[in-house]
Amino acid sequence: MTDPDSRAMAAHTKVGVGYNIQIAVDAKNKMIVEQAVSNDVLDIGLLQRTAEPARAMLDVEKINIVADKGYYKIEDIEACERAALTPYVPRPQRGAAVKNGFFRKDEFRYDTVNDVYICPAGKTLKRLRESRLRELKKIEYGNPKACRACSLRSRCTKNIRHISRLDNEGVLDRMAERVSEKPEILNQRREIVEHPFRYDQTVDEPGRIPYARARKRAHRVQPNGARLQSPKSAQHPWHQSSAGGRASVKLER
Ligand code: SF4
Repeated sequence: MTDPDSRAMAAHTKVGVGYNIQIAVDAKNKMIVEQAVSNDVLDIGLLQRTAEPARAMLDVEKINIVADKGYYKIEDIEACERAALTPYVPRPQRGAAVKNGFFRKDEFRYDTVNDVYICPAGKTLKRLRESRLRELKKIEYGNPKACRACSLRSRCTKNIRHISRLDNEGVLDRMAERVSEKPEILNQRREIVEHPFRYDQTVDEPGRIPYARARKRAHRVQPNGARLQSPKSAQHPWHQSSAGGRASVKLER
């Protein structure tokens, strides 16, 4: 409550006081090059906002950005691609089909030439209707006749299976391809972003409470290493915002 960065943050029906720290770590030197405090409850939508200042700090034109699935948002990923920030974010497995144990969406192959999906039974799912999701066009694909006669139906749907695709979903397909070509990059992210925090505890301030233990106690100050390594933080455009978590992005030059 006494931390000046803390704010009341609402998530669903609860309100907590705290902040959401974002850091970006340079994979080459394993140093934090950007940090900011946000009062966004979730990391979703914060990818480009974290990566852009980090790129400026590194003074490079192109970087690879590796983040966890909490950052998976098509608009943000597309904005990164347009700005020559190459994102690697794993696809989260969510939605009704996953919950019910049915075939996942990534088990359906999109045919870019014919604009159809090929389902696990090898049937063609064509465009059925269009709607909107936020500002994006959403297209629904399906093949009701094939579903009614399908021997795999119990593994796929309770009725007729539909697959939806956003107009700009090619951006996610390209990213999935990049991730599948370099799957090890996701594990490397975890190792690299933890490194500066270990440094912070064992070298910078000997005797400081280890991060993992402190996390269990629910309250933890902003990592000292982050403050030391980001001289621009006080002027950061969203520094004034605030919620108790730490999220991180790895950068590759
Ligand atoms: S239920 Fe329909 S979409 Fe699912 S595998 Fe069978 S034909 Fe394909």
